[in-house]
Amino acid sequence: MSDCWKGRCLCGAVQYHARGAALAQLICHCRDCQRASGSAGLPVVVVSAAGFSFEGEIRSYTITGGSGMPTTRNSCARCGSLLFGTPQHAPDIVTLYAGTLDEPSRFRAQFVQFTCERHRLDAREPGVEQYSGRAP
Ligand SMILES: [Zn+2]
Ligand SMILES: [Zn+2]
Repeated sequence: MSDCWKGRCLCGAVQYHARGAALAQLICHCRDCQRASGSAGLPVVVVSAAGFSFEGEIRSYTITGGSGMPTTRNSCARCGSLLFGTPQHAPDIVTLYAGTLDEPSRFRAQFVQFTCERHRLDAREPGVEQYSGRAP
């Protein structure tokens, strides 16, 4: 009941707030998530749209994704941080991009999807040197 997911963009102009437990937590490695984020994929917390709200000016971009369904990705209009998705085929959910959470350590992936599109740029690659901070 006290579950609440809060996050914000890089510049702080957009903040979001989602009440309620996560409906799912996953990492998506689809090409759309890679291109949208410029990264190996996106950690996603799925929440109920009913408990979701945000403040600030966003910019939205809609594309028909790998699922064949149009989905909208929402970014800060000022700094461009990719914040959350609003899938049109599932208007009852919002997908929070977990890197923008105030407490990202709460994230616990339950599954990973689109591993078929995962590339070696994924930093979690086993057998590769890993540093807790910046690489020397
Ligand atoms: Zn911003
Ligand atoms: Zn994806």
